[in-house]
Amino acid sequence: MKEKIWHSKPHMSGRESKYVQEAFETNWIAPLGPNVNGFEQDIANFLNKRKDMQVQTAALTSGTAALHLAMVMLGVGPGDIVMVQSFTFCGTTNPVVYQGAKIVFIDSELDTWNMCPKALEEAIIYHNNLHAKTLQLGEIKAIVPVHLYGMPAKLQEIQEISDKYAIPIIEDAAEALGSYYKRRACGTFGEMAALSFNGNKIITTSGGGALVSRHKQNIEQARFLSTQARDSAVHYQHSQIGYNYRMSNVVAGIGRGQMEVLEARVKQRRENNKRYRDFFQDIPGVTFQNEPNHDFFSNFWLTAILINPEITGFTREDVRLALEVENIEARPLWKPMHLQPVFHGSAFFGQGICVDLFEKGLCLPSGSNLSEDDFDRIFSVLHEMFK
Ligand SMILES: *Cc1c(COP(=O)(O)O)cnc(C)c1O
Repeated sequence: MKEKIWHSKPHMSGRESKYVQEAFETNWIAPLGPNVNGFEQDIANFLNKRKDMQVQTAALTSGTAALHLAMVMLGVGPGDIVMVQSFTFCGTTNPVVYQGAKIVFIDSELDTWNMCPKALEEAIIYHNNLHAKTLQLGEIKAIVPVHLYGMPAKLQEIQEISDKYAIPIIEDAAEALGSYYKRRACGTFGEMAALSFNGNKIITTSGGGALVSRHKQNIEQARFLSTQARDSAVHYQHSQIGYNYRMSNVVAGIGRGQMEVLEARVKQRRENNKRYRDFFQDIPGVTFQNEPNHDFFSNFWLTAILINPEITGFTREDVRLALEVENIEARPLWKPMHLQPVFHGSAFFGQGICVDLFEKGLCLPSGSNLSEDDFDRIFSVLHEMFK
């Protein structure tokens, strides 16, 4: 059996071990320490670089934990409603459920594949009317757009709706570290945003995440809540329920080493994307997730294509299986959350664009450490099928 080509594999720089070693030598083996503070500063410096931003960050155990704390801090609770992009991973949706609130799922639009502003506004108007009439439906507490595969959502349009109806945005930027909208980093737009450093993300700490916000009090509150909400007293005293969500100083050491190469990783992922584009250039029936114009800069964490079986004569599943035979991992796009058994019967607004994307879409191997040999193997399978 040939060696497996993963769709997105961790890619260490070699600089991580220096920081991890330091944690051991100084015995900072705890969910606090110099690497945690340093990693938070590194991320903030990166996000604040291009535009004159002032965000701060709190390093946490996962992106899901970051989204959960965001929901807690907004006061999302039973009976409330949160508007969430349906086309996403369960890490976006689960924190809403942890808080006992209800999700209204919003469709994608065709330009970015992310939250459709039109469907979002329809959903808000519908729920506000119903709320005013019957008072049976709860209040809309947040809007959660996602930058899928690194592609920025239509942030300006979504921001306008957020302002118009006074509903805060929680940005799921788990896949979009190194992406920009109008030269401003993804993760700096929402009232709060979540980043993820899970094993397959553009940089990884093996597992981890961060909460990002322009508002210092949000970050201070996140640090407080993620360390069990201890009041300032010599004994253990609690006036609030907290969580054990703080990142460990050992893990943050990996993050510090990864931040040194983040720019390079974005460049490598974008080069992968270009290679696939060159290959498929003259092949009818295959299209890409595209940057709609120069306002959008994707880190192209994953390269995603759509295969139109009416033109190619075969489906995305045929392509996925052909790659699998050669031990090459490609994955279908996220299955829309409103189609998941666990969310059966939930409200959904839109035309079903994300359903069509799911049926036709495939994520190609996109790791920043793919070798020339790997690409030869991938392109030889694709050549067999498409040429
Ligand atoms: C990875 C991911 C998350 C969750 O991050 P974890 O660190 O795995 O908890 C949330 N949303 C999206 C879109 C993701 O891809």
